[in-house]
Amino acid sequence: MPSEFLDFSTALEHLATYPSPDGLSAKDLMNSQLHGGLTYNDILLLPGKIDFAAHDVITESRITRNVTLKTPFMSSPMDTVTEGEMAISMALLGGIGVIHHNQSPTAQAAMVRAVKRHENGFITDPVVLSPSHIVEDVLDVKERLGFSGIPITDTGSLGGKLLGIVTNRDVQFLSPSTPLHQVMTTDLVTAAEGITLKEANDILRVSKKGKLPIIDKSGCLTSLLARSDLLKNQTYPLASKLPESKQLYAAAAVGTRPADRERLRLLVDAGLDIVVLDSSQGNSLFQIEMVQWIKKTFPRLEVIAGNVVTREQAASLIVAGADGLRVGMGSGSICITQEVMAVGRPQATAVYTVAEFARKFGVPVVADGGIGNVGHIVKALALGASAVMMGGLLAGTTEAPGEYFYHEGKRVKAYRGMGSIEAMEQGKPVPPSAKVNGVGPGVGKHAKPAPSTPHENAATARYFSEASAVKVAQGVSGDVQDKGSVKAFLPYLHAGLQHSFQDIGVRSIQQLQQGVQEGHVRFELRTASAQVEGGVHNLNSYTKRLFA
Ligand code: GDP
Ligand code: GDP
Ligand code: 5GP
Repeated sequence: MPSEFLDFSTALEHLATYPSPDGLSAKDLMNSQLHGGLTYNDILLLPGKIDFAAHDVITESRITRNVTLKTPFMSSPMDTVTEGEMAISMALLGGIGVIHHNQSPTAQAAMVRAVKRHENGFITDPVVLSPSHIVEDVLDVKERLGFSGIPITDTGSLGGKLLGIVTNRDVQFLSPSTPLHQVMTTDLVTAAEGITLKEANDILRVSKKGKLPIIDKSGCLTSLLARSDLLKNQTYPLASKLPESKQLYAAAAVGTRPADRERLRLLVDAGLDIVVLDSSQGNSLFQIEMVQWIKKTFPRLEVIAGNVVTREQAASLIVAGADGLRVGMGSGSICITQEVMAVGRPQATAVYTVAEFARKFGVPVVADGGIGNVGHIVKALALGASAVMMGGLLAGTTEAPGEYFYHEGKRVKAYRGMGSIEAMEQGKPVPPSAKVNGVGPGVGKHAKPAPSTPHENAATARYFSEASAVKVAQGVSGDVQDKGSVKAFLPYLHAGLQHSFQDIGVRSIQQLQQGVQEGHVRFELRTASAQVEGGVHNLNSYTKRLFA
């Protein structure tokens, strides 16, 4: 060994003689005097040291002041992304779906209610019937709410004396006019009020019954437990649930006009936990007043305000009382705001700047728009976001509203900006290209029905166009490829995050963000040619399968 080399055993000490660790700190990376604003593709994280398994990585994150989820995934309040089915699936898988408001308040409230009814611990307001109700009433509940296990009390309501229970099998094959006292089961397994959820679950397991009515000392019904909830709890261990009731968290978007206050009352009645104030430029008097009104009127409702991209915008909404901030202007895949309005900010810079400021006040930040792959999510989290909001990435899943159709040989679903002319006029989402081919989305269970009650167009209001004679579009309308079910896609995003964190050498989002703030987690800027190198290149052809 030539003697001019240092002794290899001193390599670690020698590292300490360098003025700073390899790579750039987030602060240096984001020094926009050196270069313009940055977006996700302009940056990379440097690898750390792997000394743990990927599945040990915890992705828990606080997405508002008082709500913590097991995964940092949110779906956008857009009419081609989040309705009831998406919201339920996102919550079961550990994220949260924000139900859009480009529909009547009653339709939106029904979706919130469906989320809250989907999973429960004790069902404290179960549907109850009386012995004189008929089979048709049970079938009607099944049709409207999706379940048919119904306790029967003398009064036909909660608090009445429990007489029996009717389930699906009791009413099959019977005439709809048969009274329930003829068909109900009266030999009941019940539990006494005051029992813990764990004890009640044990009785359900042992008794093998589908439902467990809970009664007080005088035999009156106080609540109900469903066996299917035990299964859901097992199947979806990451589910976003309230700690006490075990109900799924529900989130929905509203605007900031007077009519939105009435809309919000309906949503809160339906059980809403988080409201997202949907505006492309959140620093407005309307929004500040709306946040203040909500915090006064519904103190337990969490408010995510936005959108913002600067410290100054963020400060206004934090003072008003926001519990979370939504960050992004012009970064969405369907968005033409930066092009048309000349206003906005590259998303990595926006997320870093707002998160750095909001953190000091304990206000989490949601990185909204421009998420195209797992890497973008990692970068958003590293720059300080507590969660990411995705539109285009989820619009092609089975759970998104709308039907699949074929466009140029590919199976696709419509996806449109809420500031597109199509959304502002609230027609059916049919991309022009699909119309040319003559194969538009079919009318299926998710096809948007005409609003049942008149409502102002939410999309127009988001983009402050309602008073204009000329509607100026800030989004486009198109389609995205089939992505399969979110039940496979979200676990892929989750596993992808865990593997990425392992490469970085951090075991949780908290550790990642702490590492970035303290300067141990390092970055590199990517030149245009580095970005080419980082993608697949120089192949004649290839297939890109993202997960199996
Ligand atoms: P968790 O199981 O992760 O929610 O943890 P907890 O310790 O809070 O659960 C307490 C008890 O409630 C356990 O017996 C769980 O199996 C049960 N449990 C959790 N979620 C649900 C649910 O949605 N429905 C029902 N019926 N039980 C649940
Ligand atoms: P059923 O056998 O037809 O009643 O349906 P399941 O027991 O399979 O599913 C009932 C689901 O609906 C569970 O997840 C319940 O938590 C939920 N649910 C919400 N509200 C109610 C209610 O008022 N009654 C019943 N039976 N279930 C409810
Ligand atoms: P994506 O995930 O597709 O990149 O972006 C989704 C986000 O784009 C939404 O959450 C919302 O903030 C934003 N967005 C939705 N529709 C429009 C639109 O028409 N114009 C603009 N500027 N942004 C939109």
